[in-house]
Amino acid sequence: MDAVSEIEKIDVQAEKNLNPVFQEDYVGKDGLLYCGRCHTRKEYRINSALLRKEMIVRVKCQCEQEQWDREEAARALREKQNRIRRMKGTCIHDRALLDCIFEEDDGSLPQIGSARKYVETWQERKANNDGLLLWGGVGTGKTFYAACIANALIEEGVSVLMTNFSKILNQLSGMYSEDKNHFIASLMEYSLLIIDDFGIERSTEYALEQVFNIIDERYKTRLPLIVTTNLSLETMKNPADIAHQRIYDRVLAMCIPISFQGENHRKADTEKKFKNGKCLFEDEGDEENGNEIE
Ligand SMILES: [Zn+2]
Repeated sequence: MDAVSEIEKIDVQAEKNLNPVFQEDYVGKDGLLYCGRCHTRKEYRINSALLRKEMIVRVKCQCEQEQWDREEAARALREKQNRIRRMKGTCIHDRALLDCIFEEDDGSLPQIGSARKYVETWQERKANNDGLLLWGGVGTGKTFYAACIANALIEEGVSVLMTNFSKILNQLSGMYSEDKNHFIASLMEYSLLIIDDFGIERSTEYALEQVFNIIDERYKTRLPLIVTTNLSLETMKNPADIAHQRIYDRVLAMCIPISFQGENHRKADTEKKFKNGKCLFEDEGDEENGNEIE
């Protein structure tokens, strides 16, 4: 048996497909295949002690490896973006708010710096159970501010739910008490809960009880809460009755108040759009119908 027949080329079909040979490729002085473009080896010689044979295996040359790495990175990025898109879809109930990102800020919202800071220092905010109470009139940018935080944190892999009590109360209304408990417990699985438009929900005894239960549960489990509201700080500090007082007391204990004053036209338009969007969804009684807000 001569030496040459001792050398076996491992030409596994899969390897061939992954590492094809091109016309410009050539055999070097060492008898191994080289890439005609990057001039690095496409073959390696290995000695198999077990088989007592020398074998040649096909590998990627440098340029093939680089291309493979680029494709792999692009694939990973696409997968991550898809994952984030899916997550945002389930975590932010108002689709129009998916577009509220820091990059869309036109510099007209003086408070936005603190929203960026909140995101940057999220670990600390979470550990301290620091929530935010964004209060002020309609069209002052509170919802935009809160949605920027939601979008940015979701992109960092933080579990966030941005919704409102009207929606939560609708969901609770058809449930048996055990399911209600599960549902409220499921709201505690989110590291951050954002309640938009707090204070516009029904204020029946039943509704106030559910609102209190949810806020109290966040309080007891030391999980942050962000609330946007048209109510004034003054109203929240001087509630009309005990039922409201115990809710507001909890919110004020958990949330740092940030005042939104004055009219901001661009933001006002945007917020009006969100409100219209909400009416659209709620009128149709199906928020998952894929309607896009223009
Ligand atoms: Zn190459």
